[in-house]
Amino acid sequence: MSSDLANNDFKELVRSRTDLVALVGESVALTPSRGGAEFKCLCPFHDDHTPSLVVYPDRQSFRCWACSTGGDCFTWVQEFDKVEFREALETLAKRAGLEMPTYAGRRQENAVAKTDVLDVLAWAENEFHQCLLNSQMAAPAREYLKERGFTAETIAKFKLGFAPNDGQWLIARGRGKFPHEPMETARLIKKSDEGNGYYQFFRNRVLFPIRNDKGRCVSFGGRVLPQFAQPGVGKYINGLESDVYSKSNLLFAFDAAREGIRKTGTAVIVEGYTDALISHQFDVTNVVGVCGTALTQAHVDRLKRFAPRIVLMFDGDEAGQNAAEKALANYLSENIDLRVLVLPDDQDPDEFLFAHGAEEFRRQIHNAAEAWDFKLQTEVNRHGLESIDARHRVLTSMLELLAKVPKLRGSVKEDVILNRLASRTLLSEQVVRQRLAEARSSRPEGSKGALPNHNVAAAGTPHRGPETTARTMSAPSEGLGHKSHRVDSAPANRSLCFLDRSLSKGDLMECELLEIIFTDPATLDEIRREIGDEDFYNEQTRAVLQVCFDLLDHDETPTFDRIIAVIEDAALKRLIVWIDEQARKKEISAKLKDNLTVFNGASAPSYLAQTLEPIRFRRAEQQHQRNTGRLAQQPDARAGLNSNAKALLEQATAFHQKRAAKATLP
Ligand SMILES: [Zn+2]
Repeated sequence: MSSDLANNDFKELVRSRTDLVALVGESVALTPSRGGAEFKCLCPFHDDHTPSLVVYPDRQSFRCWACSTGGDCFTWVQEFDKVEFREALETLAKRAGLEMPTYAGRRQENAVAKTDVLDVLAWAENEFHQCLLNSQMAAPAREYLKERGFTAETIAKFKLGFAPNDGQWLIARGRGKFPHEPMETARLIKKSDEGNGYYQFFRNRVLFPIRNDKGRCVSFGGRVLPQFAQPGVGKYINGLESDVYSKSNLLFAFDAAREGIRKTGTAVIVEGYTDALISHQFDVTNVVGVCGTALTQAHVDRLKRFAPRIVLMFDGDEAGQNAAEKALANYLSENIDLRVLVLPDDQDPDEFLFAHGAEEFRRQIHNAAEAWDFKLQTEVNRHGLESIDARHRVLTSMLELLAKVPKLRGSVKEDVILNRLASRTLLSEQVVRQRLAEARSSRPEGSKGALPNHNVAAAGTPHRGPETTARTMSAPSEGLGHKSHRVDSAPANRSLCFLDRSLSKGDLMECELLEIIFTDPATLDEIRREIGDEDFYNEQTRAVLQVCFDLLDHDETPTFDRIIAVIEDAALKRLIVWIDEQARKKEISAKLKDNLTVFNGASAPSYLAQTLEPIRFRRAEQQHQRNTGRLAQQPDARAGLNSNAKALLEQATAFHQKRAAKATLP
């Protein structure tokens, strides 16, 4: 996430003291419209002749429907003064008569707090660990870990813990030892909404301590016990970022894995805490986990210093496939040997280890496919290579990916890739090169760089240079027209949002669901029972959905205000303001009110069910495609179908029935 969920106090104070209408009115002439529900003005960000920019007082947001610049009060100052976020914050603080916390003062404060925070975390880690080992309350947790195959040695080595289902447990134990402040800064406790009390953040969860490079506990990952799992509540909850913990930097178990990574020259990245720890238990010690976030540039940079080879071990489901694809686009131009491994039969690393042992696991890691070949094989499985048409489809999706990595242009690596692509698709290298040139030129000017990764692009929000000239861009139209929305000449440096290119049908599906969430945050519980963030394929809409889920995990209602407050990335801000505006134009609140339907055993708005359905269908469709690909790969048909292939066939049949049913709908 581009900003820390909780480190927002000063920013929020400034926002609450700023009225966007007054702020905008200081620079341009505003005219009330719709009885004062909106204000309009000539947009200062493009050559505007009709008032195109709208300010929404109720949302404290603005958006230009012609050039799609939009956001909140901070965005306004950033865009208008052409400054970065920090300066905009200063400007608005001054305007509101608030004193900026000084940098020197803050640093000193933090220096004191940091050691306190680490001390309190070390103490809490020990309390949770002792609780797991000895307390009657932790009996189900001990049982669970035993079932998952954790040995007492692993539990002790990684100091796993248990947080009892009592919001006051840790606070009571810390009384007289620690004041509330460092415990709160460590994100161990939280102020309750009602009043002045505090409660414990992790409750009724098995805890996996997350450590920094020096082996000190900085946060926890918490897993709910299966018998207490509830729909709509995340199985895992990740600690909030704090002064001592940044998700995009830290890798789980890195302190224990560093030596193994160096020795083997290979870093293996898995998704789960359990997968990482069980690997270590089997003495495969070069394995680290990502802590509930995507792989970031900071992770890659860190690992690169210890090993030339990085193996991404992903689940075989689409979340894994998407993650692999994203990593490939982001790191293709890096000087690393990037590999992707999906274990046979879609087994999780820990399942695989218990079934086949460490030797076989190491062999799999050793033979992991190069990331590029993995993607190519995925596309071949998806489309086949039988017809010219299929081969061109494979080629197109590979080249689209390649076109996203401008750094590769003209490199030796590119030559090798194109050569292999040509021989695999049985097309001439000349054709392949020609098509790559086309793919490159069809990408909008501004998006030739990689899209901003919200995990990486943190504080430094790109902004337009002073040379900005008028741009012509058709606004994303109302409704769902599949028009092309190309930026003809976006200034370099501007943070890009996918509104700058044409929206695919999938993008629109995801935006429509976000419209519902922005209109009625209470629907998010229902939504989360049906889909996860991995069901959103667009990186930016997914980032927004993740923010909503994060807020929910931290007992906050994901209202539009909170969402825009948490997001700092300018492109994401533009996106959510646009979605919010769409929601109002389409009168989503009215649509949610009429026509209830029985959905998932409860009564829910039909509109919600209708919007969720295509996303669920897409997931089923993807699963089907992958199964078909795998069936085609089944090695020996003469030996008869093995049980796995049979299961795949059954799933395929079920999908065909589902698709047929869909086709016959009115
Ligand atoms: Zn404009």
